[in-house]
Amino acid sequence: MNIEDENLQCALHAVIVPFPLQSHVNALMNLAQLLAMRGFFITFVNTEWIHKRIVGDSARKANSLISLLFRGDRDHRGGRIRFLSIADGLPPDHCSASNLGDSFIALQKLSPALEHLLRSRSGNDEQYPFPAITCIVTDCVMSCTEQVATNMKVPRVIFWPLCAASSIAQCYATFLISHGHIPVTISEANNPEKLITCLPGNIPPLRPSDLNSLYRAQDPSDVLFNAILYESQKQSKGDYVLVNTFEELEGRDAVTALSLNGCPALAIGPLFLPNFLQGRDSTTSLWEEDESCQTWLDMQQPASVIYVSFGSLAVKSQEQLEQLALGLEGTGQPFLWVLRSDVAEGKPAVLPEGFEERTKERALLVRWAPQLKVLSHTSVGLFLTHSGWNSTMESMSLGVPILGFPYSGDQFLNCRFAKDVWEIGLDFEGVDVDDQKVVPKEEVEDTVKRMMRSSEGKQLRENALKLKECATRAVLPGGSSFLNLNTFVEDMARKVA
Ligand code: UDP
Repeated sequence: MNIEDENLQCALHAVIVPFPLQSHVNALMNLAQLLAMRGFFITFVNTEWIHKRIVGDSARKANSLISLLFRGDRDHRGGRIRFLSIADGLPPDHCSASNLGDSFIALQKLSPALEHLLRSRSGNDEQYPFPAITCIVTDCVMSCTEQVATNMKVPRVIFWPLCAASSIAQCYATFLISHGHIPVTISEANNPEKLITCLPGNIPPLRPSDLNSLYRAQDPSDVLFNAILYESQKQSKGDYVLVNTFEELEGRDAVTALSLNGCPALAIGPLFLPNFLQGRDSTTSLWEEDESCQTWLDMQQPASVIYVSFGSLAVKSQEQLEQLALGLEGTGQPFLWVLRSDVAEGKPAVLPEGFEERTKERALLVRWAPQLKVLSHTSVGLFLTHSGWNSTMESMSLGVPILGFPYSGDQFLNCRFAKDVWEIGLDFEGVDVDDQKVVPKEEVEDTVKRMMRSSEGKQLRENALKLKECATRAVLPGGSSFLNLNTFVEDMARKVA
C-alpha cells in the first residue's frame, strides 16, 4: 500500500445528490466546494441533463470549473470533486424545470440505479483514487437516496435548500393536513386574519398563503401535490440535517425543529457567501451568463439600477410582462432585466412597441446574468425578484433590498418574510393570494419609486446592509455557520476514525 492509499483510508468522502434544478445544484455545489476545502472527497451526482450543462457541454467550461475548484485554492487541503451522472429515465433533452411532476416521479424510482452507480464507481476512479463513502448528502426532495444509504450503511444527511420556516412547513405537511391547514383553500388564502401558529421552531405565525403554493391544489390527485407530500413523509428519515440559512436570521430553534428524530440539525448558510467572499466562482449556471452586464453596470450611478430577474423557473403572462416593461420605463431609473427565452409562459417575451428604442439609453436586457456579480455591484439599488430562496439570500447577503413578485412554491413565504419579518423589502398588493392578478404598470412604477427614492426605501436599504453584515459574520471564521460546518465535518470524521 502506498502513502496515498493509506491517506485514503481515513479520508472523508461525501456523495452529494441535488434535485435537478438550478437553485438546488448551485446551493449543493457551494457546499461541495466548502467541504472539499475542508479535505472531503466529493462525488457530485447529477441527472444527465444537468451534467451535460455544467460539465459535459464544453471542455472549456469543465476545465475552468475544475481548475477553480482544485488549483486556485491555496488553502485547499487535498479534497477533490468528481461529477457523475445518472439517467433519470426521462427523455435526454427534458428540462426538469418544465416537467417538475414527471421529474419527481422519475427521481423517486432512482434508488437501484443510484446504488449501482455508486458501487460501480467506488474504489479507484479513472482519474483519481476515491476513498470509501462516508455519507450521502441528499437534497430534501430526493427520497430515492434513503434506500441507497440504508443498503450501503452510510449516514444520510438531509440538506434543505429552503429557508428554515419553509422547510418546517414542508417537513410537517402531514401534521398540517391533520390540522386542516392543507390543502389551502381560496377563502383561507384570502383571509388575512387566519394564522397558522401550530408549527414548531418559534417561527413567525404563517398565513395560509405563505405555505408552499403546491399545497393549494384543489384536485387531490394533482401529481405535484402528491409528489411533495410523499417527499415530506420521507424527510424524517435522516441521520443529520443541514439547512441553507443562518442562525442570526431564523434562530436556532427553527433549525432544530427540522430534526424529527433527534439527529443533529445545523444552519450552514448562506452557502454561496464564503466562496464568493474568497473569490471562488462556484456557481454552476445552466445557461450562459451574459458578461456584458459588468461593463454596463460600471457605467451606472451608485445604487441606481433596478435588477429584475425571476430565477430559472418562474414565468409571467405576456400581459404582465408588458405592464412590467411600462412600469420600469415609467420609473426613469436604469434597469437590468433578465428575460429568459421561456419567461412568457414558455415563450420569449414580446415587449411593448417602441419600448426597447425608448429605453435603450438606460436598459440592458439579457437572457441570463452572472447574478452574484450583478447583486454585488455598487450600482445596483434594488432587486425585483420572484423571491426564490437563493435569490432572496443572495440579495440580503449582498445588502440589496428586495421587491418581491413571487410565482410558486416557497417564494410566497420568502417574499412575505423579506417584507414583514426581516424588513428588507416590499411586494405588490394581493399577488400572494391571486396568481391570476396582473400588477398594473402604475403599481410597478410607484412601488419602485417608493423603494428607491423615499425615506422608507432608505430604511429598507439600511436594514439590508445590516443583514449583509450578519450573514458575513456568520460565514467567516468563528461565525455560527462556519463553526456549524466544522462541527459537521468533525462528526463525519469521527465515523471514519
Ligand atoms: N441566477 C443566475 N442568473 C440569472 C438568474 C438566476 O445566476 O440570470 C441564479 C441565482 O443566482 C440563484 C439561482 O439562479 O442562485 C436561482 O435560484 P432561486 O432559488 O432564486 O430561484 P429558482 O430558480 O429556484 O426559482
